[in-house]
Amino acid sequence: MENKRRKIPFSEGNPETQPFWDAAAEGKFIVRKCTTCARIHWYPRAICPFCFSDKTEWQPASGEGRIYSYSVMRRTAEPYAIAYVTLEEGTTMLTNIVDCDFDTLQIGQNVKLVFKASEGGPPVPMFTRA
Ligand SMILES: [Zn+2]
Repeated sequence: MENKRRKIPFSEGNPETQPFWDAAAEGKFIVRKCTTCARIHWYPRAICPFCFSDKTEWQPASGEGRIYSYSVMRRTAEPYAIAYVTLEEGTTMLTNIVDCDFDTLQIGQNVKLVFKASEGGPPVPMFTRA
């Protein structure tokens, strides 16, 4: 049930997301917030996707969220669960659910952030049951 041996690829960062990966390497989870409309978005962008303001800034996130939807991939050597998780801060991110029995997953379940090592890159944000 655990996907310990599943390799997590890391795709090269870009200037917009580099601070996120730098923070992740230190175990910190940060998100991008627009100071014009006060909304948080994912993935991190310099321009707010809601109001197109360029006044966006980094802020720490709680790492707490809820499963919005999920899908368990079982036809692989190492089954894994992909999910949309809605963060406490209000934005929804595509991620993986790890370190739990996939049969017990439910929409609406509380989850919390865990960073998982990637191959040749910084840790990748994923979630496990809270
Ligand atoms: Zn905005």
